[in-house]
Amino acid sequence: MPELNRSQLSNIELILKITEDFSHDAEIDFKYSSPDKKTLVIESGHQPNFLPHAGLLKKIFMLHLCRKRANDKGRDAIALFGFSDYNLCTTKLLTQNKFPAFNKLGYERLGFKITERDVWKRFDYLMKPTEDEWERAVQKISSHYKRYPITPDTELRLTDIIETLEDCYKRAKNFSDINAFFISKISNKLALNVSFFRYSDIQRKGIFIERWNDIISDPGQYNSIYNSSIEHHHLDIPLCDTDSLPFWYHCPCGAKVQVMLNQGYATGICRICTKKHEIDLNKLKDVFKDLSPNAVARNVIFSEGMGTHIFISGTGGWLEYSKISDNISRRYGFNLPVTISWKGRDYYTGPAHEAALTELARICGIKRANILIEDITRTIKDKRKELEERAADAREKGKKNEIKKYDGDHKNISTSIDISKAIFTSTPSFIDILVSQGIKKIGESWIQTLDENNDGSVIIKDVVYDSEAFNIYKKIEGIV
Ligand SMILES: [Zn+2]
Repeated sequence: MPELNRSQLSNIELILKITEDFSHDAEIDFKYSSPDKKTLVIESGHQPNFLPHAGLLKKIFMLHLCRKRANDKGRDAIALFGFSDYNLCTTKLLTQNKFPAFNKLGYERLGFKITERDVWKRFDYLMKPTEDEWERAVQKISSHYKRYPITPDTELRLTDIIETLEDCYKRAKNFSDINAFFISKISNKLALNVSFFRYSDIQRKGIFIERWNDIISDPGQYNSIYNSSIEHHHLDIPLCDTDSLPFWYHCPCGAKVQVMLNQGYATGICRICTKKHEIDLNKLKDVFKDLSPNAVARNVIFSEGMGTHIFISGTGGWLEYSKISDNISRRYGFNLPVTISWKGRDYYTGPAHEAALTELARICGIKRANILIEDITRTIKDKRKELEERAADAREKGKKNEIKKYDGDHKNISTSIDISKAIFTSTPSFIDILVSQGIKKIGESWIQTLDENNDGSVIIKDVVYDSEAFNIYKKIEGIV
């Protein structure tokens, strides 16, 4: 692994200062130790989603695990997780997420809606909800769970989560901070030793400005490598213009403005307030706090800027962009990290899953405990056949009420199976796993999952919280 150079060491020192600020704001533990040139730098990041999927927490868990494994081998390591709080609000996940629910969709969306007007704004520019809106949303989370027969342990965990959320709301000054604080506090509860920071603070403090200058000094070269990478890898990403710039300008109205190079200036028009902007690129320092890199430039700038050795990435779209950024980094002679990602489902049963299983057992006329040993597909088939025969018999005898009853029961079986399948296939908020499994079991299951598979850069491994849950998922999927 390459040693850190002076510029990277000084950038990491600056980042540690902003992680200290963040930890103070979020009121989480902060341990500071200055890096030296042999320190292993492990980095990851994500947008601060509202009550996010487990995937986000798994990234933080992997950061912690990589750091711990390095420490266990006697190597100093630093694990940094950045919140891309200046991202556009184009994804619903920033403010709401799915919770498994016993209804036709198999889930209920909990959280807040972003108005049409705010979609093109930066997330850290969005005000936090009013106290009334907030209380209503939190109340909805509580009442969601109170619809199911939950254990006292589940209730205690739910209370703890609600209290943590309330605390984050009080401490945060904008919406993105509520979520970032919450994610970092949950990570603290999972005993993950990771340092958190906001991407907006990177800009505010002028960190990585030299790397920006490297790119801006010759955008033509950058764009040409960008486009040839897309062609070389056959990526489904639009080519860029020769005079485009790989960053956004933050309009005071809250929007992000796409800018183009025009005789030493970055120019662009705001799509919300229609204001025309002209930024003198020779005075980058003055406007740096109002800029943010796009996805590809972020990878190039951050990896070289902090000398990242290991990058914990997401799967999906990110992998496409990383093919472009890797090419650019190589051509610029920049540092290129080893990338690791963890992809997999979570097999567990929460309150809504249990409600679906109780209903299935009732339909089949069996005990919930016997779902795995009984041939429920066969039982359901027999039940349906029996109801069809009874309805046919009632039809022959002209018994209208009985026809209605048997047809209704037949339909109810299909509805219950559809609901069960929907519940068992949706990707839930991590909160549903947390509420039903608890911190200790989650930590143990994740460690066990990764211990079984710690080679290869893309780890495809599901988390099975208990073997019964895994078999139940397979059984529900198998119902025809
Ligand atoms: Zn504007």
